[in-house]
Amino acid sequence: MASITNIYSLKPFKTQWRVHVRILKVWKQYLNGVETLEMVVVDDMNQTMHVSLKKEYIKKHENVSEEGLSKIITNFQVAHNGGKFRTTPHVCKIQFASTTSIRPAEDIDPNILGLNFVKFSDIHEGKLNPDFLIDVVGQIVSIGEVEILNVNKKQTKRLTMEIRDTENVRLNCVLWGPYASNLESLATNTTEAVFVVVLRFSKLRLYQGVWSVGNCYNCSTVLTNPDIPEVLAFKEKLPADGVTLSYTHPNQLTIVSSISVRDDFFLHSPRRTISEIIAASEVGKCVTMATIMSIDTEFGWYYMSCKTCSKKVFPHDMDAMREKYPGRPFKKQLWKCGKCNTDVEEVIPAFMLTFRVMDNTGETKFLLFDKLAMEVVNQTASQLTQSVDEIQDPDVLPMSLSNICGKTYLFKVAIESSNIVFNSDTYKVMKIVTQSDLVKEFSEISVSQNTIEAKHEEHVLTSLTTEAPLLLEDDYEDVKTPSSKRKSNDSEEIGNDSGELSVASKKTKNDFKNGDDAKHTVMKPVKKEKTDD
Ligand SMILES: [Zn+2]
Repeated sequence: MASITNIYSLKPFKTQWRVHVRILKVWKQYLNGVETLEMVVVDDMNQTMHVSLKKEYIKKHENVSEEGLSKIITNFQVAHNGGKFRTTPHVCKIQFASTTSIRPAEDIDPNILGLNFVKFSDIHEGKLNPDFLIDVVGQIVSIGEVEILNVNKKQTKRLTMEIRDTENVRLNCVLWGPYASNLESLATNTTEAVFVVVLRFSKLRLYQGVWSVGNCYNCSTVLTNPDIPEVLAFKEKLPADGVTLSYTHPNQLTIVSSISVRDDFFLHSPRRTISEIIAASEVGKCVTMATIMSIDTEFGWYYMSCKTCSKKVFPHDMDAMREKYPGRPFKKQLWKCGKCNTDVEEVIPAFMLTFRVMDNTGETKFLLFDKLAMEVVNQTASQLTQSVDEIQDPDVLPMSLSNICGKTYLFKVAIESSNIVFNSDTYKVMKIVTQSDLVKEFSEISVSQNTIEAKHEEHVLTSLTTEAPLLLEDDYEDVKTPSSKRKSNDSEEIGNDSGELSVASKKTKNDFKNGDDAKHTVMKPVKKEKTDD
């Protein structure tokens, strides 16, 4: 009988190997239409290794390949480990052959998990190869709420949070699908002041120059406040600064069952042409498709906002302030924030974009505040201005703003009493859809058929979503992993077998907060004809 080899020593030159391992993770994968069973195992030396079973061997072995079980695996191929989703740093993986056996074995200490936590500073410095899935441990310092997004016409959930490591380096963490809702409910119900999350086999992403981690389909595992030595040691080393879990939107802790952007535009909101919007005699909301002709700069394109509360601030006359308080130095410009009811130094530019828009029935103006504008521009106002002052020459537009002209998007707008009573020709935008396939689809549905056809299609999509995995952009495109082997018994573990996963799609972000911003903004456009543009 062959002796046990430690995982570290496995090499491709032969197949008569025998290893004693514990199964950490099992899932099914569909790569380019080929079904395989994938596993990650660990031995008692804390070494992990990837295991792959071709379709023809799945049936024979899947029933005994449960997460948490210890096994002896004998006679297998050792193949090179490659690709964009490497679960372990081991250069090789175990590939089952027809002669491979997998048999019960003595339990390996359940505290041996093969965890290999990375430093967040190494992530930010780009030191890690994103082809390798990584383990991170972090204290959640802020958490958002589950958003429901449309990705490739299917709804998916997304939860964004910020975590920190023991050196107080922060990292954005984005969970998708069931991972998002599971973690949100755990975080909402926690009584722990320090809430620690472990993401195993998570995927690094670089988006617009910023690194983040998230679950990688259904092969990731999320543990919250697990009672394991590594996490207890992590908690010990956290800075003793009293930072605890905070919620990005404290009034909305429960899972938002908000309707998707797609439903909103295709089903729930009345569709109007621009001439119908102008002629409206009642307040309300509607959706429309319009082309941006130009950016109206009468009121500028950004305003200065309070860094604390995001509301508009007004500059003090510093000369007058120095006269009034001769003893005080006043090194920086002070701004009056009406909401904080104080003078603030920390201010930041925020978008306020007025689009001149048209369709084939008429023209009007649409007003977008900061968050919505960012979805269109894909940059923040401060990135564009590089300024901490009020606008000086409103007609000088950054290229990324002028580039928007000519684009056709879907808008959900509010018809308010100012529009009806005071004939204001500027309508506040509540939501925007820039995704070209949705815009195209919207344009192809004639108004009269709108409701029936869209409802039918939505029904089909909904039923698909429950079974089929989402297809993803860029490097995710060729991989689908629709089912994990089993659900864990561990209530703290979030490993879900529905396989609903996705990637960020900034442009379809479902955002309900902008109407509120608009209400608080002092700048109120009035109807005024301009003839020079
Ligand atoms: Zn403020």
